[in-house]
Amino acid sequence: MSLEEFKNRNVGEQNYRLVDVGQTPQTGMEKFEQVVKRAVKLELFTGLKVTFREMFKALFGGQMHTTKYPFEKLPIAPRYRAIHEMKRLLESGHYRCIGCGLCEKICIANCIRMDTRYDENQRKEVSEYTINFGRCIFCGYCAEVCPELAIVHGGRYETASEQRASYSTFEDMLTPLDQLAQQSEFPGFGAVSDDADKKIKKTPLAY
Ligand code: SF4
Ligand code: SF4
Repeated sequence: MSLEEFKNRNVGEQNYRLVDVGQTPQTGMEKFEQVVKRAVKLELFTGLKVTFREMFKALFGGQMHTTKYPFEKLPIAPRYRAIHEMKRLLESGHYRCIGCGLCEKICIANCIRMDTRYDENQRKEVSEYTINFGRCIFCGYCAEVCPELAIVHGGRYETASEQRASYSTFEDMLTPLDQLAQQSEFPGFGAVSDDADKKIKKTPLAY
């Protein structure tokens, strides 16, 4: 099979349309002539016409095909989980975290740092808690191991930062007190089930 036959071997069967591109210019003069010929035939402006047509459609015809991020955001899947959230107890508004440190221990990216202390009532409280989202790989181990369902993954996905190391503190992730009523619980492994209250066994008074 010749080179030409090889190049055209499937052309007939698939209804390709061959475009006559002419001879490739060899000398400088031939190249210059080709440029002039194309410019005179206004081929240069054909692309610009398409560009301006689409631009006007987008600006004035309401046919914008791009999203003006960060002012506009595309909806994400309801089960998408990324940036951590720290939950509060609905009854008291106190944070759920008991400072057990399991999340810090299990974190395989070693990006959680926390510390605890005793408050004036000798109750343990979280004094420091940060997650380095520059290192977090969103494996979900911290949320799975948490015995209090205090740390969960939320729907926020923006982890970009001007600094290489972007930290989030406990307060950044904690549900704001004025939004406690809207605090979302996520269904799935490790989450509170709908009939959780019924499963609670109270200690008999005799004990
Ligand atoms: S999701 Fe994984 S890597 Fe990120 S903080 Fe939790 S345990 Fe660490
Ligand atoms: S595992 Fe849960 S309760 Fe324990 S320190 Fe981490 S967030 Fe707090």
